[in-house]
Amino acid sequence: MQAHMMQQPLLVSSLLRHAERHHGDQQVVSRGVDGGLHRYSFRDLARRARQLAAALGALGLERGDRVGTLAWNGHRHLELYYAVSGAGAVLHTLNPRLHADQLAWIAEHADDRALFFDPTFLPLVEALAPRLPGVRHFVLMGDRAQLPADCAIGGLLCYEDLIAAHDDTYAWPLLDENAASSLCYTSGTTGDPKGVLFSHRSTLLHTFASALPDTLNVSAADCVLPVVPMFHVNAWGLPYAACMVGAKLVLPGPQLDGASLYALFESEGVTLSAGVPTVWQGLLAHVRGQGLRFTSMRRTIVGGAACPPRMLAEFEDELDVRVLHAWGMTELSPIGTVSAPRRNGEPAAHRRAQQAKQGRCPFGVDMRVVDAAGAELPWDGRSAGELQVRGHWVVQSYFGGASPLADGWFPTGDVAHIDAEACMQITDRAKDVIKSGGEWIGSIEIENIAMAHPAVAMAACIAARHPKWDERPLLIVVRKPGAELTRAELLQFFAGRIAKWWTPDDVIFTESIPLGATGKMLKHLLRAQYQDHLLCPAN
Ligand code: AMP
Repeated sequence: MQAHMMQQPLLVSSLLRHAERHHGDQQVVSRGVDGGLHRYSFRDLARRARQLAAALGALGLERGDRVGTLAWNGHRHLELYYAVSGAGAVLHTLNPRLHADQLAWIAEHADDRALFFDPTFLPLVEALAPRLPGVRHFVLMGDRAQLPADCAIGGLLCYEDLIAAHDDTYAWPLLDENAASSLCYTSGTTGDPKGVLFSHRSTLLHTFASALPDTLNVSAADCVLPVVPMFHVNAWGLPYAACMVGAKLVLPGPQLDGASLYALFESEGVTLSAGVPTVWQGLLAHVRGQGLRFTSMRRTIVGGAACPPRMLAEFEDELDVRVLHAWGMTELSPIGTVSAPRRNGEPAAHRRAQQAKQGRCPFGVDMRVVDAAGAELPWDGRSAGELQVRGHWVVQSYFGGASPLADGWFPTGDVAHIDAEACMQITDRAKDVIKSGGEWIGSIEIENIAMAHPAVAMAACIAARHPKWDERPLLIVVRKPGAELTRAELLQFFAGRIAKWWTPDDVIFTESIPLGATGKMLKHLLRAQYQDHLLCPAN
C-alpha cells in the first residue's frame, strides 16, 4: 500500500527558499579580499542568487554544466553555491592552493564551462586561461571598479554587472533530487585527484544530519564562522546548515591568521567555528600570546586531521570552548563521525579520552573495520584494520571513474579501531602506517604525545627504513619559537606514555613541515626526504 504523503524532492534551492521565508532577516557577514566587511540578510542572499541564476541561463549555461569557482569564503561564493546548484548546473569548487598544473588538470577533467574567481586569483587565472579551452566564460567576482584595465583573459566578465542585468523573478526549477548539485576533487597526495559528485539529495540528507545536536549542533541561536574553506568539501556543509536552521553566517575571506580570526570572532559574536588543527594552532598561539579569552565562542569543530589531545585540553579547560572532534572525507560529503561524548555520569577522564577519538556515526552513515581478508573486526577498542563506510552521503563511484566500493562499502584508506561504545579512533592513514617487525605502530598516537610537549609546535611521525625491523618510527619536529629542546629530552618524554618499542628511533628538528592544500601535513614528502635516515651509519 502506498502512503498518502506529499512527494517533494530534496533540493539545494529549497534550503535557500526556507532561509528566505523563515529566517529572512538573519545576517550573512563576509570579509572581502580588501579586508572590508560586507553585511546583508538571507533575504538579500536569496534575491541575488535568483539574479545570478538568471544570469547563468543568459550565458548559455545549461543543466548539468560544471561551473568552476576559485574563491575564498565570501558572500559571492555563497550566492554561487545556491544559484549554480539551484539552477540545475553543478558547482565545482576548485582549491586555489593547488599547483597550476593540478588546477588545469582538474578543470579539464571536470569539463568546466565557466570559471568564477576572486580578484586575488587574477594572475593565476590569467596563467591558467590558455590551458582551459572548454571554459567559455571567465567571471571576476567583484564590481566594475575591480576589473583590470589590462588583462590577458579575453572577454573577462564582471560579476556585479552580470547580475545587475537581471531582476529577481527567477523561479527555481523542480529538479530530480538525484541530479548532481556540486563537485569536489579529493586532495589526494598521490595519483590523480578524484572527483566526487554530490547530489541534491545527498547534500540535503547530510545537512539534516550535520545540524543534529550530537553532530555539529547548529541552531538559529548560533553565529557560525566556517574557517574551513568553501573549496574544501563545501566548508563541511556549514553554508547549507546555516540556511537550514537560520544561523547567522560569518565568512572570513582570505585572512585566516590568528589575529584576524580572533577579531572577527569577537566583533561578530561567533558561537561556533570549524577548521583543521593547523589553523587552530595559529589562533591558539595568538590567544595564548596576548592573554585573550573568547567572549562568545562556545564550540568548535576540529577535523580534517587528528585533533591533538593537548589542543582539546587547551580549548576546553583554558578557554571554555567545547571541541567537537570530527572525522570525514571528501567522499563522505564530508561527515563520517563526530565525538560527542555522552554526559551520563562517566568519569571526566574517560569522557576526555572518548572525545579525543574520532567518534560515533550520526544516523545516515554506518562504519566497520575489516582485516586484510575483508572480515569485520570486533568493536573492542583494539582490533585495528581498514575503516569502511556506507550511507546516504557516501560516494558510489568517482566522476568519470570507477567505483571504489568493496562489498557495498567504501574503503576509506584509514586505519582505525572501534570500541564497545561505538567510538571510532583513527590510528593512521593506511599509507602512513609504520610496520615494525611485522607489527603496526600508529603514527598519530606518537605525534599526539610529541605535541603534548610544551616546546613542540608541530610533529610528524613517519616510517623510516630499518635494516632489522623493516620500518621504525622517525619523528620530525618543529620547535616553538624560542623554545629549547634536545633529541634526548623529547625521547625521554615518551617514557611511560607509550609502549617502549613504539618510541621513535630518532628525532629530526626542522624549521617547518610541508602542509598540503587543505592544511594537512604532507608526510609523503617527509618520507621521500628522510626515509633512509636510519640506514645511514652516521645517524
Ligand atoms: P579530505 O578528503 O581531503 O577531507 O581528507 C580525508 C582524510 O583526512 C581522511 O581519510 C583522514 O585520513 C583524514 N582525516 C579527516 N579527519 C580526521 C580526523 N579527525 N582525524 C584523523 N584523520 C582525519
